[in-house]
Amino acid sequence: MEPKASILVVEDEENIRTALTDFLEFHDFKVTEAVDGLEAERIVAKKDFDLILLDLMLPKISGEQLCTKWRRDGLQTPVIMLTAKGQEKEKVTGLNLGADDYITKPFSLEELLARINAVLRRTDPARAVGQNFKFGDLDVDIAALKIKRKGKEVEITRREAQIIRYFAANPNRVISREELYKEVWNDTMTDLGTRTTDMHIAKLRSKIEKNSADPQIIKTVRGAGYKYENDL
Ligand code: CA
Repeated sequence: MEPKASILVVEDEENIRTALTDFLEFHDFKVTEAVDGLEAERIVAKKDFDLILLDLMLPKISGEQLCTKWRRDGLQTPVIMLTAKGQEKEKVTGLNLGADDYITKPFSLEELLARINAVLRRTDPARAVGQNFKFGDLDVDIAALKIKRKGKEVEITRREAQIIRYFAANPNRVISREELYKEVWNDTMTDLGTRTTDMHIAKLRSKIEKNSADPQIIKTVRGAGYKYENDL
C-alpha cells in the first residue's frame, strides 16, 4: 500500500482551514491542522510531515518567520506557501526563504492539488515510481509484494520491495551502501548495517537476477556501491 502523504495545514482562517482539510482528506492525504505559527512550530518539532501548507499571514509567528527558522534548523520538509493577492513581494521572498512553491489566494483546490502532487513527486522520487513498474526485465507489483518475469512470479519481502523501489526511483546513479541503508533502514551506517545491506542485496539478487553471480539489474560498482541501469 502506498502510505498516505501527511500534510500539515497551517492557516488561521477557520473556513479556509476546514475547506483545505476536507478537500485533502477526500484526496486521501493524512491531514494535521495548526491554527497559528506557534502551534505549527510545536507540531513540527514533534512530528514529521511529507509536506507543509503554510499561510504567509499568521498570528504570533508569520509563515515567513517560520519557514526561515525551519530551513535554518535544517528542516527539509517541502513547504507550499499560501499568499494573499497583492503580496507579490512576499511571494518572491517566500521562495527565497526556502519555500518549494507558493499559491495565491483565492486559488482553486484543483490547482492546489496539482501543486501538492508536483512538489511531492519532486521531493520523493519513490512516489513518482508508483506501485507497478518495470525493473530491468521484471514487472514489479509493490502492493502485492510480487515480481514477475515472463509470467513466472516470485514473492518479495517488504524490505526487498523498499530496496527495489529506491533503485527504481534513482536509476543510473551509484548508490552507496550508506545511502541505501539510510533510506531503507532509516539508520546511520554501522558494521552491522554493512552486513545487513550486503545480505539483503545478495538475497534479492537470487530472486531477481538470471545469474546472481553476474548481476545485470542491480550492478556492483567496485568500492562505491550499487547501480541500477534502466536502459535494458
Ligand atoms: Ca492568514
